[in-house]
Amino acid sequence: MSTGSAVSTGTGRDLAALPKAHLHLHFTGSMRPQTLWDLAAERRIRLPRSLTDDTALQVEPTHRGWFRFQRQYDAARAVVDSEGAMRRLIREAAEDDAAEGSGRLELQVDPTSYAPHVGGLTPAIEIVLDEARLTEDATGVSIGIIIAASRTRHPLDARTLARLAVRHAEREPGRVVGFGLSNDERRGDTRDFAPAFRIAREAGLLSVPHGGELLGPDHVREVVDSLAPDRLGHGVRAAQDPRLLEQIVERGIGLEVCPASNASLGVFREATDVPLRTLVDAGALIALSADDPLLFNSRLLDQYETARAIGMDDGELAHLAASSIRLSSAPEQVRARLLGGVEEWLRTPAPPAD
Ligand SMILES: [Zn+2]
Repeated sequence: MSTGSAVSTGTGRDLAALPKAHLHLHFTGSMRPQTLWDLAAERRIRLPRSLTDDTALQVEPTHRGWFRFQRQYDAARAVVDSEGAMRRLIREAAEDDAAEGSGRLELQVDPTSYAPHVGGLTPAIEIVLDEARLTEDATGVSIGIIIAASRTRHPLDARTLARLAVRHAEREPGRVVGFGLSNDERRGDTRDFAPAFRIAREAGLLSVPHGGELLGPDHVREVVDSLAPDRLGHGVRAAQDPRLLEQIVERGIGLEVCPASNASLGVFREATDVPLRTLVDAGALIALSADDPLLFNSRLLDQYETARAIGMDDGELAHLAASSIRLSSAPEQVRARLLGGVEEWLRTPAPPAD
């Protein structure tokens, strides 16, 4: 089994009480299973069986495997066809994050898929931003939005999205915080997306493309050289090349490491096989994240349980949480409050071992 829920919880301080930031979470992929089932029932949409049981997706790291993943993601996305559904997803993602100790959520949205249901790209983005604002007030979770383009679409579409991201970032400073690039790493030429990322970076947005998940060090190098990332979505395959990893550390590029996702997509056999220890020992800044909990059946907290399962003690887990907060673009007072909370967590006495 590769699900986070299969990981032993071990002993130590309560990880849900450890303040942390969640920096790699996709919009539809964040959906609660019950919400998917509710929305599908309302719409009389029949879901594939794989989305109605509670087991994690498990595929091979091949085109075929990615296709299976994408088909399930598309089936889930089909229910997100209204403003109400979009708002519900954001609210619930933040509520679930709050329950797991996340005080900062950076949610990744490619508005292209939702735009046809709500009258275009701009309304789709505006709904997301408006709900992020309301949800932040209601839950206390600080929320930033990352607008993401897809590798499967034309690079000109990415530029359009980058311009929209910039326009909204200028209108409400601090809400749209980054620009991403997602989907199958084997699709498209990374260099073709450089102009879109330049538009975003020049306006002060973070560059947060996926890279180094399905493909190895050469691809990571290409993403680093072409898109000047502040953080890499995944980036775990950099562990295979010590020199590359050293460069990533030197440049201060953060890694959004998602162990359960890597296991589900067959990049590593088990979540505990993800070379987290190698990355940490090299000095990499890491933000553990859930990616698509709906499909991988494993939420943010499970990723910290995985780190504990490979032998990380509470000091190291606190260090990981602090890294995630430092890598976020949370406002200064939020960052200071969360970092203070991490120190406080570590000062509380650990429960006695069984
Ligand atoms: Zn992702």
